[in-house]
Parts: sequence; C-alpha cells; structure tokens
Amino acid sequence: NKFVYFFGNEETEGKNSMKDLLGGKGANLAEMANLGIPVPPGFTITTEVCLLYLEKGDYPTEVIDQINNAISKLEKVTGKKFGDNSNPLLISVRSGARVSMPGMMDTVLNLGLNDDTVVGLSKKSDNERFAYDSYRRFLTMFGDVVLDIEHHKFESALSAKKKALGVTLDTDLDATALKEIVEEFKSIIRNSTGEDFPQDPRQQLQMAIDAVFNSWNNQRAITYRRLNNIPGEWGTAVNVQSMVYGNMGETSGTGVAFTRDPATGDKRFFGEYLMNAQGEDVVAGIRTPQPISMLQQTLPESYATLEKIYKKLEDHFRDMQDIEFTIEDGKLYMLQTRTGKRTAAAALKIAVEMVEEGLIDKRTAITRVSPEQIDRLLHPTIDSQAEYEIVATGLPASPGAAVGKVVFTAEHAEEMAKMDEKVILVRTETSPEDIGGMDAAQGILTVRGGMTSHAAVVARGMGKPCVAGCGSVTIDINACTFSVSDVTVSEGDFVTIDGSTGNLIIGKVELITPGVSGELDTLLEWADEVREMGVRTNADTPHDAQVAREFGAEGIGLCRTEHMFFGEDRIPAVREMILAEDTEVRKAALQKLLPMQKEDFMGLFKVMEGLPVTIRLLDPPLHEFLPKHEELADRLRALEAEGGSAEEMETVKQVMERVESMVETNPMLGHRGCRLGITYPEIYEMQVRAIIEAACELKASGMDIVPEIMIPLISHVNELSSTKKDLVEVAESVMAEKDCKFDYLVGTMIELPRAALTADQIAKEAEFFSFGTNDLTQTTFGFSRDDAGKFLPFYVENSILEDDPFAVLDQEGVGELVRIGIEKGRSTRPDLKIGICGEHGGEPSSVKFGYNIGLNYVSCSPFRVPIARLAAAQAVI
Ligand code: PEP
Ligand code: MG
Repeated sequence: NKFVYFFGNEETEGKNSMKDLLGGKGANLAEMANLGIPVPPGFTITTEVCLLYLEKGDYPTEVIDQINNAISKLEKVTGKKFGDNSNPLLISVRSGARVSMPGMMDTVLNLGLNDDTVVGLSKKSDNERFAYDSYRRFLTMFGDVVLDIEHHKFESALSAKKKALGVTLDTDLDATALKEIVEEFKSIIRNSTGEDFPQDPRQQLQMAIDAVFNSWNNQRAITYRRLNNIPGEWGTAVNVQSMVYGNMGETSGTGVAFTRDPATGDKRFFGEYLMNAQGEDVVAGIRTPQPISMLQQTLPESYATLEKIYKKLEDHFRDMQDIEFTIEDGKLYMLQTRTGKRTAAAALKIAVEMVEEGLIDKRTAITRVSPEQIDRLLHPTIDSQAEYEIVATGLPASPGAAVGKVVFTAEHAEEMAKMDEKVILVRTETSPEDIGGMDAAQGILTVRGGMTSHAAVVARGMGKPCVAGCGSVTIDINACTFSVSDVTVSEGDFVTIDGSTGNLIIGKVELITPGVSGELDTLLEWADEVREMGVRTNADTPHDAQVAREFGAEGIGLCRTEHMFFGEDRIPAVREMILAEDTEVRKAALQKLLPMQKEDFMGLFKVMEGLPVTIRLLDPPLHEFLPKHEELADRLRALEAEGGSAEEMETVKQVMERVESMVETNPMLGHRGCRLGITYPEIYEMQVRAIIEAACELKASGMDIVPEIMIPLISHVNELSSTKKDLVEVAESVMAEKDCKFDYLVGTMIELPRAALTADQIAKEAEFFSFGTNDLTQTTFGFSRDDAGKFLPFYVENSILEDDPFAVLDQEGVGELVRIGIEKGRSTRPDLKIGICGEHGGEPSSVKFGYNIGLNYVSCSPFRVPIARLAAAQAVI
C-alpha cells in the first residue's frame, strides 16, 4: 500500500485529481510541481493513514518506513540533512483535508530545529539572528498546536522582553535577545507540560503528524464539519514540506494573493505581502502588509515570475485561485494554490467573464454560482463590516435585511409609509388583513408562525425580508412596546431584521443594497438553455406577475384567489357572502364579486400574455375573512355609548353569533379548500364564470389563453369529480353565452397524503397536478404550519431534523409521497402535466429533487424565480 506521496523536483507522484487521498492542499502542491511551478519539495501522508491512526491509535510499520524513505529523498533533493548540525533540513507540517477546514491544526514551521541544528542554520545562513528568530517561532508553534500550550504565554514572554529592551517591533530584537527568548520559551514548555521540549527532530515530526491527525477530531473541527455537511470519514492528509524562508532579510518575503478580486470579481491581481517575514506575520496583523502591486517595484523579477505563475495556475485550474508564496533571497516559491473564496457578486462576474475569455464553458459557469448566492444578489444584506448585537433569532422566513421604525399595526404601517417613514411591522402573526401594512413596511417580524405561515408566504411573494416565529419577543400591544432579552423597544424605535438568518437587532445597522448586473441575466439565460424543467411563479396580482416575468417566470403556477378577496373594495361583499343565511343571499353577494374577480383575472392574463396561468379556486376557511370578535365587541360598545338604534345593535349581535358559529377548532383541517366549494358550490361557480368570461373577453382582442383551473385540498377522487362536473357545466354555458370556444384545463392540487396515495384514480379526472407541499408537509408530519415555529427550530438545533421541512422538502417522507403521486398519476394519464407550487418550488435542493422524480415545472414566489432557474439547470448538470 502506498501511504506517502512525494512532490517536487520531477519526482512528483500525486496529482490534482487525487484530492480524496492527498487532501486539497497536497493534491494541488503535486499539481503545481507537475506544471513545473517552483514548490519547495516535500511529501503528503494520505488521508487513509489518518483513518488508520484514528482507529488504532498507531501506525502500520509500512507507514513509518515510507515516511523515512520520503525524508531521505527530501534530503537528497535539497542537499540538506534532517537533524544535521551543519546543514539542517527544516520542514513545515500542515494539515490538509479534501476541503479547507478551519478548526483543525494548521501549520508548524521550522520543524527540525533544536539547540544544535540552530547553530548549523546560523552558520550556514551566516545569519545568527535569522536562525534564532526561526527557532523561537518554531517553539511557539510547536508549543501552541502540538503541545496545546496557550499561545498567550509565548506572546507575553515576547512582549515582556521587548518592553525590557525598550523596542516595539519583533524585527528590533537582535540575536542575543532571541537566544534569551528561546530559553524562556523552552522553560514555558517544561513548566506547562512537565517535560522538556523534544530535541530529536524525528520525535518532533512524529508528534506533529499525530497532532494533525488528532486535530481532525477536535471539537472545533467536528462542529465545522457538522455545519458544513463534511463527513467524518474523510480524514485529513498531512503535508510535510522543506522550508523556504521569507525572513532571511530584505530580499525575502511572503504573501497571499488572489488571481482576481474576490470582492468584486474584477480581473486584477489582488493581494498583499510582507518583506522579511514568515507566513504567520501576514495573518497576525502585527505589521501592515503592502499591496501586491508594490512588489513590482521592490522585487521586479520575483513579481514577473509571480505574474507568470498566477496566470498559469488560473489557466490550468480554470478558476480564480487563492495563492500563497514565499520569496527566499529573491527566489520565488509557491506554497499553496486553491480555488479562491469569493462574494456572490464576484462569483457571478468571474463565471460569466471566464466563459467570455474561453476558459470555461457555459455549463461550468452555471455550476460556479450557487442559488444561495443569487438570492444574496437580489436582496439587501447587512454590511459585513458593521458591528451589532443580535438580540433574538427567529426563522429566516424571507431573505434580505431591512431597517425601520417599529410599528404594531398594519394601518399604522401604511400611515407611516405615506409619510415616507421606513417601518418594520411587528405582529404576533399576520393575517390576510395585514397585506396593506406588509406591503408598506420594509420588513416583517412575527412572534408566531413557521416557514409557510401567512407572513412568510406573503413576504416572500413580495420579496420583502421577514423573520417569523421569533418566540422570544413579547408584544405588549397596550403599551405599544415589545420586549426581548431585557430590552424594551417602543413603537417608533429603530430595529434591523435579517430575513436570511432570522436575526433581530435593536437599532439601525448599515445595509448593502446589491446592484443586479447584466451578468445575472446572462448566466440565467445560459441556465434556461440547459434546464429541462419549467419555472413558473406563485402570483396573485398583476404587479407580482410582472415582477416574476421580469425574473423569467414562464407562467403562473399558483394564483391564490383568496388573496384577491382582501382588497378594501371587496371585503364588504365577501363578508356578505359568508354571512349569508341562504343561497339566494349568498348568490347576490357573489354577483357583486363577479366583476371584480373577472377584472383580477384579466389583469393576470394580460401580464402573462398567453403564458399558462393556473388559478386556484378559493381555499382558506371562511372565518378568516370575517371581522374579529373583539372588533365587533368594540363596535357594540360604541353603539351602546352613542345610543345607537336597536336595529343596528341587533345586526352587530347577529354578526357576532355567526362569526362565533364559524370558528373552528382546527381550521387548517377544517372547512376549507374543495370542502367549501362542495358545500357552497355557488362560490366556485362564480370564480369559474369570472375566469371564463375574462378569457372570452381577451380572446376577442386576439389573446390566446388556456386557463388552468385548480381545485385545492382534494383527498378523495369523488371530491374532484363532483366539483369538476359543476365547473365544466358553468364553463361550457359561459362559452355558449359568449359564443366563444377555447380549451381550458381542470386540475387539482395534491396536498394531502390520501390524494398522493390514490393519485391514479385522481388523475383520471385531473388534467394536471400541482403538489401543494406546504399542506402536504403539514399533513404528512402532522405539524401545524402555523405553530411549528414553536418546536421546529429546537428540532433543527438538536439535529432531530436536519432542516425545517417547511423550507427544505423532506425527500424521504413528503418527497416519497410526491414520487408515489407522480408515478400513480402517470399510470392512468401518461401525459399528465405535473408541477409543485408549495414553498419548496424555489428551494434549490427541492428543485433538484423535483427534477429527478419527473416534475414538469416548479412554481415559486417571484423573487425566487431566478434561483429556481439556476437550480433547475444545475439539476441537469
Ligand atoms: C401548499 O399547500 O403547498 C400550497 C401551495 O397552498 P397554500 O400554501 O396556499 O396552502
Ligand atoms: Mg395548500
């Protein structure tokens, strides 16, 4: 078995594709050596050894032999000897997992130094100061990362020495001072561990290798892995590399750079360096590094080499690289190259420009930008430089950050907005009545509710930041204040919310508003060329539909008609309809609503210009539209005080009774969806009439429309067949009336488990399916959509569930029902068109899942359309 891979000086054994075995750093060092780029020679001990060691606590003898052989080879190519007193080989030891992983042991430099070899180094380099400077650095790093001694002990001793000598910079310490520091450091090690610092370089190396492997399982690394979904079975490699010195004087130095600007993506070499320094000096920030452009003047030849190398690396890896280099007495060495981390804006710019430069193809570019990055580009974010304190965290219900004055009612929000005040609407939960206030606010904060609660769904539709279910906030509506962790916030005080993280901050925080660039359109157009699944939007107003079209929506996958019933002009008629004691009165009220609904649908059809529009008939429980009990009680009291007429008071009392009679114990499972349509058929009849009349009218003006009428909350095929029969009759009679004939579809939502399980029967009646994964998640888990905010965050925090299933589709459970629904549905209607319109339709992993199980399209809120377009393309690649 091969456990150790050599690199450098034409003896390189590894390559870039061996990241699993050599780790990212090791594989890239090998690749650079293969490219003829100067890297200090060394070797990589594989991740396999890490796993063996962690399992057994020891190494197979083969490993020890291979390490010894590699050291001998290293001695040969460098002409130095490990542990030699006259010409010592010094090495660095670094960890290197498949992906770079903060939290693990990082680096030990200058390993191999001891009381004897330091003398050799001093003579050989003819620089005693340099030798002892290297030795004290080694002692610090070895003490810190291998022996686990607190770093500050070394720092304090060093500072004390500088103070005693009256100097401020490390570089002001001469060889004598450094020698004394070395002695002090050794006694720190002795005092802290009870043992002398190990003088034997072989022992030093062994200890450092053990420390790297052990660091794979330290708490920080475990946490990092958990947060980033990195499997523990990967293990880390160890890279042992011969030292080169950036601290040999004024023709030496070290630096880090990016081949393009990681903040903006601009094509310019970007980085910084320090002369006469070793790696940690650049990071430590004790001395201020110079911008990389200065190197061109200081050491023009090294700069020219560096320029050639970074271009070569970018050409080779075909991506922006993050590089580390050291210049030893004018000679440049590369210590590392890796794919550079970048901001969302930079990722986009680099991806598009690299296609234009011919470096990568469009498909590759599509994979270079994550859907989450697109999301960040579409919403304001909190300035990463800003300082602030998070006082509470709720659910990240709708992305983006917002700042504004606290208001507690929708009306107040609207009033303030009229005066150009920016407000954050703070509510226990929102209801359809709050729409106007939500629209007027910069952002919404709710105490209750989950990821598919009213506030979350509506805010996402508006592209407005929302933190939902922030349970540690307590509202005192009478005092017009809310309190959270000992702070009381009054109406009018500023708060900042971050709907991407769920954070609440008291006060104003600086926000960054991204500029959407042409590059986004370019990338998304490429995504459209690749993806096979359609992307529609959930929209209930012409405005939202327009926004969605600008984002590239190819139709409306869900128009929630109940959202249309809340316009100020409609509420009285809607209430009349609901309060009607008999069918005749209800029909009269519906007659008033008909022209308004027709207008609504015409508005949508016009914006969509012939693209498919799925209209869902009324879904929610009727009492949601009614005035609240307290409101009526107030009204009654007022009438009493004013001496209102008995008749007036009687009406209010009747309304109160009716409202009370409609209250349901569990409205989510109550009288809603098709159940309403079945018990009050005149409601759906009016809606279908409005749809067909609207289409007829537009047809006359030459617009081609194929309305898709969708029945919600079907659990049994009979519910659909009976509703459909009525609707078809209405549709046909309206067409006959208007002497107008066109195709329309009647389909259903699949949002209850029974519907998914009997989809074969349902598909015989339904001309299309749209999975309502919000309700399907609610009913599959038995988690109330509106109350899940109380326990789901706890579930996720404690790994009972990996994600909130209302945000990320539960593929095993809910997803399995979707899969069964598709399979069964297509078994009786092979060409069944199937989409998804729950909130998961715009969530990247759910979009990918949807593609894999055969959805024809996804439908999501307007601001998530770009995300879905990209995710759908990535699913294909
Ligand atoms: C659903 O249940 O997934 C759905 C889209 O409908 P609503 O959210 O309106 O219940
Ligand atoms: Mg639903």
